[in-house]
Order: sequence, then C-alpha cells, then structure tokens
Amino acid sequence: MIAAPGGGKGTQGQRLAAKFGIQHVSSGEVLRAEVGAGTPSGREIAAYQQRGDLVPDRIVFDLLTPVVAAAAARGGYILDGFPRTLPQAITAADLGRRLDLTLDAAVYLNVPEPVLMQRLLARARADDTDDVIRHRLEVFTETTSPLIDYYRGRGILVEVDGDQPPESITADIQARLPDH
Ligand code: AMP
Repeated sequence: MIAAPGGGKGTQGQRLAAKFGIQHVSSGEVLRAEVGAGTPSGREIAAYQQRGDLVPDRIVFDLLTPVVAAAAARGGYILDGFPRTLPQAITAADLGRRLDLTLDAAVYLNVPEPVLMQRLLARARADDTDDVIRHRLEVFTETTSPLIDYYRGRGILVEVDGDQPPESITADIQARLPDH
C-alpha cells in the first residue's frame, strides 16, 4: 500500500487483509510498538517520528524483517507503509524472494492534498500537528512518491481514487487486483 500520510493505507490495508485472510503489517505500527516498549531503539524512533522524518533503514529492517517473515509463514501479507524509499523497495523485493512470495501488486491510493490535511488534522495522532503534517507530506512527495513510477514500470501498479467512501475504495482495489 502506497499513500501519502492520511491517504487511508491503514484502513484499506486492514480491510483487504481481513477479506483475503492474510496479515496486515504496518511499519508505522511496528515502529510505534517499539517506542511504546521504551527500548533504546524505541527512543531513537520516537525522535524521527515526532519530526515526521523517516526512521533510518537499518532500524526499520531489523524490526520489520521478523514480522514480515512470520506473516509470510501464515500465508502472506499486505505491507502498509513499507517500502517508503527506493532502497527499501529493493530490500522488500529481496525479502519477498527469500520468503518465496511474489509481489502481486503495489496499490497507490491517490488523494488530493487538501483532503489529506483535513483527515490528518481530524485524527490527532502525536505526529499529526500542522508543521509535522506538512513535513510528512513533503517527505512523501520527495522520497516515497518515486515508488509510484517504479512499480508502474514493473507493471504491478494499481492506482485508485482514494477520495471516496472506504467501501468503494476497497471495491475498486479488489476489482483491479490480479487473479490467483
Ligand atoms: P505511518 O504510520 O505509516 O504514518 O508512519 C508514521 C511514521 O513512522 C513515519 O512518519 C516515519 O517516521 C515512520 N515510518 C513508518 N514506516 C516507515 C518506513 N518504511 N521507513 C521509515 N520510516 C517509517
């Protein structure tokens, strides 16, 4: 799942995972859980999240790899919020190969920026303040959005209009996913 902050990755990731009976793996949640555990790496993560910066790849990979491997062993997964950079996309592909999984689709939820702002300001998460939101949107545009073309070039991009009721978005995604 690729989307700007507030784009609905979490909501759609959960809905799709429930429909397909597979695991929903949210990198943001895995990182927030580490913050909640109060470990040294959790304190490091908190500083990046509070600023709206990306957490360094090494920390993300170390925490996410075992979660992804466990999800693969249980039949597959929807990754929400990972990969977020081109190097992460390459690592995600390597990891999928090692776990004997194919990447079926990269789903991009396209949502206009004013709608994103409204949704984020209504959500009131710790990193949903005005300045931090603006910065996270910039990080998305600069660092994450190149993944859209990357997956389009590989022929697996599924782009949907993310400014619709949740059920309609899920239906659009399902209609466009490759058959098994
Ligand atoms: P999210 O819950 O997806 O909105 O992510 C919240 C925050 O967690 C982001 O602003 C980043 O600080 C961090 N984060 C989540 N996923 C990643 C990732 N794949 N790479 C680096 N940082 C991430």
